[in-house]
Amino acid sequence: MQATQFIWFDGEMIPWEQARVHVLSHALHYGSAVFEGMRAYACAGGRSAVFRLNDHCARLVNSAKILRMEIPYTAERIAAACLETLKANKLREGYIRPLSFVGCGEMGVYPGDNPVQTIIAVWPWGAYLGADALAKGIRVKTSSFARMHVNTLMTKAKASGNYINSVLAKVEAREDGYDEAVMLDTAGFVSEATGENIFLVRGGLIKTTPWTSILGGITRDSVIRLARDLGYTVEEQQFTRDEFYIADEAFFTGTAAELTPIRELDRRVIGAGTAGPVTKRLQKEFFRVVTGEAAGYASWLSCYSV
Ligand SMILES: *Cc1c(COP(=O)(O)O)cnc(C)c1O
Repeated sequence: MQATQFIWFDGEMIPWEQARVHVLSHALHYGSAVFEGMRAYACAGGRSAVFRLNDHCARLVNSAKILRMEIPYTAERIAAACLETLKANKLREGYIRPLSFVGCGEMGVYPGDNPVQTIIAVWPWGAYLGADALAKGIRVKTSSFARMHVNTLMTKAKASGNYINSVLAKVEAREDGYDEAVMLDTAGFVSEATGENIFLVRGGLIKTTPWTSILGGITRDSVIRLARDLGYTVEEQQFTRDEFYIADEAFFTGTAAELTPIRELDRRVIGAGTAGPVTKRLQKEFFRVVTGEAAGYASWLSCYSV
């Protein structure tokens, strides 16, 4: 990670290296934090745009609601603070990470009156799964770890504590020589990856996991809309790993991963073993939209200049 100059910390711009918390923060011990990940893209004319800023900030507030955490800011205030942080750091493009966490006070599990603190950090960030991933696709494996049951952890909250499940799966996949893990839900159907949603293309039809055990990705939502606008049929439907094996194409979506083709699952080559035509078309359209080149999606962009 490449450091920038300032981090927004509860309303103040703090120098990066001074943005510290106490070691007895509740979140550090019990995972009681919610976060977001967004990207800002450089657009024509020296402008920049954050992709779906307001939707991400609304999701942050909803994640906190699910966890019974009270963030003392509205989604609108957090959105404005994200833009302030980008400008303070003169960052034309990069990643934006708001995080709200339960701070110090009581050390028991019950968070009591511990303060909920919020930070926003931004930094330059390239392709999450490597430079070749977006063009050629990645190799993935089915994880031995199931995605958590919908009544074990709240899968619709983008919560730090949920990420232990993702870390277990990611470490296993990487140590076994794969780029990413595909997790099944507790009923055995394909759920999602460690921080990405999953799409298949089979016989011209596009399928993605329904909004059950998955985090409702904003990239997922955007790609569903883009695909339908391009005339494809998209179904939100359960599927199994063996249907995945015989898909014509498959890809991940996520703010970090953007739209990354999958070329292999569990040593079965998917389709032609490279980014397929539907994947490529959607990827191209996605990058046109986020950089403000496609008409009709302006409401998804929060523009700023540094
Ligand atoms: C953040 C996240 C995603 C992707 O969501 P986007 O809104 O597209 O960035 C998918 N799965 C999990 C578990 C996530 O935390």
